Amino acid sequence: MTNHISLAQGREYLAIPGPSVMPDAVLQAMHRPSPNIYDGALIEMMPDLTRDLKRVARTEHNVAIYIANGHGTWEAALSNVIAPGEVVLAPASGRFTYGWAEMAEGIGAKPQLIDFGTSSPWHFDLIAEALRADEAHDIKAVLAVHVDTSTSVRNDIPALRALLDDLSHPALLMADCIASLGCDRFEMDAWGVDVMVTACQKGLMTPAGVGFVFFNEKAAAKRATMPRVSQYWDWVPRAQPDLFYQYFDGTAPTHHLYGLRAALDLIHAEGLEHVWARHERLATAIWTACETWAEGGALHLNVADRAHRSHAVTALRLSDGQGTPLRHFTETQLGLTLGIGLGMEDWDGCFRVGHMGHVNAQMVMAMLGGVETALAALKIPRGKGALEAAAATLAA
Ligand SMILES: *Cc1c(COP(=O)(O)O)cnc(C)c1O
Repeated sequence: MTNHISLAQGREYLAIPGPSVMPDAVLQAMHRPSPNIYDGALIEMMPDLTRDLKRVARTEHNVAIYIANGHGTWEAALSNVIAPGEVVLAPASGRFTYGWAEMAEGIGAKPQLIDFGTSSPWHFDLIAEALRADEAHDIKAVLAVHVDTSTSVRNDIPALRALLDDLSHPALLMADCIASLGCDRFEMDAWGVDVMVTACQKGLMTPAGVGFVFFNEKAAAKRATMPRVSQYWDWVPRAQPDLFYQYFDGTAPTHHLYGLRAALDLIHAEGLEHVWARHERLATAIWTACETWAEGGALHLNVADRAHRSHAVTALRLSDGQGTPLRHFTETQLGLTLGIGLGMEDWDGCFRVGHMGHVNAQMVMAMLGGVETALAALKIPRGKGALEAAAATLAA
């Protein structure tokens, strides 16, 4: 028994940039006894599951499924195509590119980092300079984080493809779509991406624990030249649906696969174009509210230009280290959990809002109302009319 009332009782809202909100259909699909992993329903659903995963990635090529989080897929992808001593180019718009480059270093590769700071997308002139300087084609891959979840910067992958083509540079284009898949437009084949990694707990709305590496024939050809690939990460057996129980080198992630099936059904019933459009509309409402609050001078959006902002996550900066107290207030007083600042200089000043996956307009308005309440409680100066402005964008 506490002696003061709490306004946090009721259904909580986890508005962090992954794991995301799980749909009831996903939860219910997982609430069942363990299936036979050698025969029957689980085996039979795999061909359609892989087909529908490829539809989300907009690819006709291959997908390997791992029991792993996003970090696991970083290592899985690198292990198949990057041999010790080979160079990878890593243009960084935040913490997640550093992480992928560190993973490359861990398997003996030589990462070459170009750091664009914590609020900026890639500058193509600097990437071009690095590729041009590489006359011997030592760079075997470019590690391209589509949406960097720490900064909420969204990078232009088709422009990177065009640059590689213009310079006739043969490096593989490897994309991290862990935050963006199923939220921001991404088209693997049309955009000329050779390898794409993602995980299931963000736009795919499934509990953390399954990761995916998509790869095309160019990447498969590089794989074929590798001196060795660790058996667990080798994508060759995992990309063959008829070898189902070699997929996982052991027991399949049974319940995740049922949850994922339900999530893919939701995505395809809505239609991927509509899923992207919904994320864009909701993100626009969030930005509109934040830009209004920013008129008070204390809060600002980490990415200044809307064209470079993710539709899945928004990183915000508050003066005087007020981000941590704000998050504490929304979580303990309102039942709303916001994301911590990640990879920023001013840890306590930053916070992030996740708006990926199973999110609709009333959830966004509730989240914005929670932030408005916390700004009021903490007496943080802010522009007036943020919620009205957000509502107007959704009503339009
Ligand atoms: C979440 C995320 C990761 C890490 O995924 P984990 O499942 O937490 O290992 C990597 N890259 C990006 C862009 C992410 O959003």
